[in-house]
Amino acid sequence: MPPRHLADLDKEGLQAAVKELGLPAFRADQLARHYYGRLEADTSKMTDLPAAVREKVGADLFPPLLTPLKHLACDDGDTRKTLWKANDGTLLESVLMRYPDRATLCISSQAGCGMACPFCATGQGGLDRNLTTAEIVDQVRAAAADLRDGVVHGGEGRLSNVVFMGMGEPLANYKRVVAAVRKITSPAPEGLGLSQRSVTVSTVGLAPAIRKLADEGLSVTLAVSLHTPDDELRDTLVPVNNRWSVAEVLAAARYYADQTGRRVSIEYAMIKNVNDQPWRADMLGKKLHKALGSRVHVNLIPLNPTPGSEWDASPKDVEREFVRRVIAQGVSCTVRDTRGQEIAAACGQLAAEN
Ligand code: SAH
Repeated sequence: MPPRHLADLDKEGLQAAVKELGLPAFRADQLARHYYGRLEADTSKMTDLPAAVREKVGADLFPPLLTPLKHLACDDGDTRKTLWKANDGTLLESVLMRYPDRATLCISSQAGCGMACPFCATGQGGLDRNLTTAEIVDQVRAAAADLRDGVVHGGEGRLSNVVFMGMGEPLANYKRVVAAVRKITSPAPEGLGLSQRSVTVSTVGLAPAIRKLADEGLSVTLAVSLHTPDDELRDTLVPVNNRWSVAEVLAAARYYADQTGRRVSIEYAMIKNVNDQPWRADMLGKKLHKALGSRVHVNLIPLNPTPGSEWDASPKDVEREFVRRVIAQGVSCTVRDTRGQEIAAACGQLAAEN
């Protein structure tokens, strides 16, 4: 596992670490302010720290976690994928997307993924390891710093949204992900200060973990990667369905909506002649309306190509008819504008290959 970092620690943990280093207690706050408030992870630039302790603090609390190996951009520069190398050589990716009114960072919670969905490149590569809390948080800090400093295309900006839709299954790395969500959303100097409502946690549907998340007192958006309303097909598209069925996943989503008051998002990759039939649209609309009423929104994602896959995206007219039928059941439904295909940065394409 990578070395401990300031972003792995809660307030008490940081205070204890500062004490261990033989520093006065106020340094804990000061260091947190540098990292979360000024987005600074390089202790040589923390000039209000005595020169003699900068190196020691650097080695102990700010070990280099993620090194950018490359940035790839497309959509006129508005989409940027970063390949990161972790301290132990593990590779992972994150994707920054700029829109006129917001900037969204798609982050990884694991290197690789163990969920084995056959249409997803990350799932095909298998799980490498869980990321630490600090490795998750630092993807966000780095993007927020780049936006603030105007080093990404489009000039200065502010990071407004974070989605756990990169590599990995966030709820399979539950404790570290929840700790990271708290760091990302707590106000400075304890966190990066994003609003909970602008953070989305996406899951294949680990029902017990969805229920646990519902009880955390967080109002993050839950997204469920459903992809079909029937167990027969879902058992192959999302293999973990063999463990938790569509009904169990939707009941957990309902519990999430009840506990948090938040509308749940449903992700549905449109795969030609696989899950895009009119009758499936009707069934999806009916099941969602029954489970969640109007507290649900369906995002259709045109299938992105992945290496070795024989599947294609559904034709546009099929997509339109699907949307129409879901809406006819009283469920809101839109097609997600998909970004990053040219640089293998779109949904399901993150393979972290160098
Ligand atoms: N493991 C979590 C987080 C990843 S989110 C989850 O599955 O929800 C990535 C999203 O992209 C998921 O909804 C996933 O099902 C979807 N996806 C995977 N492969 C895709 C592909 N080839 N085309 C479109 N969407 C895809």
